[in-house]
Amino acid sequence: MTLKSVAVVGASLAGLRAVEALRRSGFDGRIDWIGAEPHAPYDRPPLSKQVLRGEWGPERIGLARGEISALHAELRFGVRAERLDTQARRVHLAGGESIGFDGLVIATGASPRRLPGQPDLEGVFVLRSVDDALALRDALARGPRVVVVGGGFIGAEVAASCRQRGLDVAMVEALGQPLEQALGPTLGALFADLHREHGVDVRTGVAVAAIEGERRVERVRLADGSVLPADVVVVGIGVRPETQWLEGSGLELRDGVVCDGTCAAAPGVVAAGDVARFWHARYGESMRVEHWTNAVEQAEAAVATLLHGPAAAKSYEPVPYVWSDQYDAKLAVAGRPRGSDELRVVDGSLEARRFVAVFGRDGRLTGAVGMNRMRKLMDWRQKLREDLSLDEALASLTS
Ligand code: FAD
Ligand code: NAP
Repeated sequence: MTLKSVAVVGASLAGLRAVEALRRSGFDGRIDWIGAEPHAPYDRPPLSKQVLRGEWGPERIGLARGEISALHAELRFGVRAERLDTQARRVHLAGGESIGFDGLVIATGASPRRLPGQPDLEGVFVLRSVDDALALRDALARGPRVVVVGGGFIGAEVAASCRQRGLDVAMVEALGQPLEQALGPTLGALFADLHREHGVDVRTGVAVAAIEGERRVERVRLADGSVLPADVVVVGIGVRPETQWLEGSGLELRDGVVCDGTCAAAPGVVAAGDVARFWHARYGESMRVEHWTNAVEQAEAAVATLLHGPAAAKSYEPVPYVWSDQYDAKLAVAGRPRGSDELRVVDGSLEARRFVAVFGRDGRLTGAVGMNRMRKLMDWRQKLREDLSLDEALASLTS
């Protein structure tokens, strides 16, 4: 069927790249573009870095390559999609309007998880949107004692940015090390040391028992009985995909919108970015990737599937890639490593904090991580596309 109209729900990275890809591919039908946030699409990575450090204002983080108007889309920003009727092919919006479509791109991303029983006290923040970042930045300007709950990417980057502002910072991570889930215990320990050397009070292997205060937050009580005084608490304990609006639509929802290997969730319905759980044929697993590069690459793949139909659609098999900046350390990870994978340093050294290391499992190369070694890491991202055994990958170093 030739598409006459496409609705794109989600006006951030994956949504914008989808609209751009539609127009670049020559689609000249109607595009209805719906986004819950009132802002034009903006970039999230600087929120925990340059914006929190007070170096960049929101005017520096726009994502569009040119004027949004040049995309000739019908914009509804600041309006939430509330329901999808797949039979009638309509998206129902807050406020009562509904929009018909031939094709649909779901790009609604993810929202921060909250601690069970997390109190609604002043001074307790999550960080996802530019509004979250500006509110937190203003609170940081008052020189508070900061406790970061969670030692994942948000926790590690917020802790670093707060220390770079000269604030007192504690980080609480329930696992043995920060970033352990993504990088394993050895590199997690390296990051714990990095943060401790910069003056962060890193508490690992301990859960948060309660966040306490009268009207404002005053302290964080840990499960081991210790108490951390706090004026600001940032909770960074992961996200959940934004799929509530799809409940009852008939689409399969399982920690994300379930898609096949071509990003299709149903005939004429595709998903991309943090919200999409897709089948990765080469890895032989269904996965969701919560990183910037995937939102860009998957938006293009999903639009190609929408425009060319299932018969011509290509299998989407990315080598995931993520970067993180903390202090002067630039970290990047390629592939799909698990924390329990074997780790071998192949370039530089952990002590110098300038290295590339590779991950292996059952004799296969599963990932590569680089610290302050970005060019070399990109070579390894290429090798990861070749699906090598660990031995072949190591041998290729000397050939
Ligand atoms: P999102 O960016 O979450 O956008 C989804 C949009 O859909 C949002 O605007 C949301 O409001 C909207 N929406 C949700 N529900 C509805 C609805 N019902 N109706 C209409 N609109 C809706 N990744 C990296 O690789 N490197 C980094 O350094 C990095 N830094 C980050 C720093 C921060 C602070 C954060 C929060 C994330 C960072 N990421 C980083 C992750 C990266 O930003 C995300 O992977 C990326 O934003 C995903 O894009 P997306 O478009 O899929 O989802
Ligand atoms: P995350 O990277 O998934 O990390 C969450 C961390 O919090 C994990 O270490 C998790 O440990 C821990 N945690 C979970 N429950 C906890 C609890 N009750 N108490 C203490 N710790 C707890 O998620 P995030 O850091 O919140 O980041 C949110 C999203 O933004 C993610 O999608 C992330 O990829 C993205 N982001 C990316 C970057 C980057 O790529 N540079 C930067 C910022 C944000 P367990 O594993 O044990 O649950």
